[in-house]
Amino acid sequence: MATLELRQVSKQFHGPRRQIVEAVREVSLQAADGEFLVLVGPSGCGKSTILRLIAGLEEPSSGEILLDGRVVNDVEPKDRDIAMVFQNYALYPHMTVYENMAFGLKLRKTPKAEICRRVQETAALLGLEEVLERLPKALSGGQRQRVALGRAIVRQPRVFLFDEPLSNLDAKMRVQMRVELARLHQRLGTTMVYVTHDQVEAMTLGQRIAVMNAGRLQQLAAPMELYRRPANLFVAGFIGSPPMNLVPGRIERAEGQTVFRPAAAGLPEEAGAWPLNPAIGERLPAADGADVVLGVRPETLRLTGEANPDRVAFPATVELVEPLGAETLLHLRVGPELTLVCRVASGPVAKAGEIVPVGFAWREVSWFDAADGRALWHPDGPA
Ligand code: ATP
Repeated sequence: MATLELRQVSKQFHGPRRQIVEAVREVSLQAADGEFLVLVGPSGCGKSTILRLIAGLEEPSSGEILLDGRVVNDVEPKDRDIAMVFQNYALYPHMTVYENMAFGLKLRKTPKAEICRRVQETAALLGLEEVLERLPKALSGGQRQRVALGRAIVRQPRVFLFDEPLSNLDAKMRVQMRVELARLHQRLGTTMVYVTHDQVEAMTLGQRIAVMNAGRLQQLAAPMELYRRPANLFVAGFIGSPPMNLVPGRIERAEGQTVFRPAAAGLPEEAGAWPLNPAIGERLPAADGADVVLGVRPETLRLTGEANPDRVAFPATVELVEPLGAETLLHLRVGPELTLVCRVASGPVAKAGEIVPVGFAWREVSWFDAADGRALWHPDGPA
């Protein structure tokens, strides 16, 4: 069991033409003892580099890495007591499942009886008892991934690091293994850091999620906090599927009235200016003429034409209907440039080509500064 901390950690590499690649930039974060922390972000944002820095496979260019409050920058990987599970399971093909799981312990000269006990216990935990004598080639993808997990678990490390461990599995197996991993974390109670580019995986597994972009930490928060109160436009667009509708535009203030004017060209007259609820307009920290981005979650958009001081409404054309089972996504267009996605409960919904009334309540939306992307306001108040 261990706490983990990164203090202002940066890592630079030299690219193929000797140019400097800033893979990780001044990242500070903490994982509490027993926490399941997920690092998520698009390809190349520095997630794997952070894991490799924690494991000791890379050295930070600057900053400190602490395990249980002790700086480990100079501690060899093998002495950090950290186990890493990769996407390609890297099992030894000529060894049985038992031997694969026992290998690390043998290297550490663990007594034979102890190895046997730990492998048997772990195999029972992962449902691998029946396949202990098989070679990896005689296993399914999910079983192989479990063996890779088992190999890490038998070591009883202080921290587990996972680098996209489920990405080679098919969609169904991925969901199943996700549940198993969550259960495993509950059983073992060990600190885990898990890297993925899949925001659904991040939301379902993480107790807290660190969202990364271009080497920088964007936000570190619990899943629903990220969803409800994204710190900036990047997080707003990354967390949530389909993502938040982001509508750039301008704030206009005149005679006590605040209006949002979407930047999209060619809007029909009814959709050209959206008068804000006066109470929200007053408190929104954006001056007259400020460029802002309005954020509306797909489930916040409703198919209703009722406009009043609390709501905006305008007509939109249905471009595409995507039935997903319990819910349906409607892809809407307003004028030539503005597109919106609306999530509704399945049932008799609109058809492609139809014009529907669409709207939302002002108290359910987020606002962002268009210049630096920072959040200004969320449904429950100032950002
Ligand atoms: P992915 O999801 O694609 O694995 P990632 O978020 O894990 O991406 P990293 O693998 O950490 O990203 O890479 C971050 C950046 O650092 C990338 O631009 C990558 O090309 C670069 N990089 C990583 N390792 C090296 C290296 N050894 N030498 C040079 N550049 C590197």
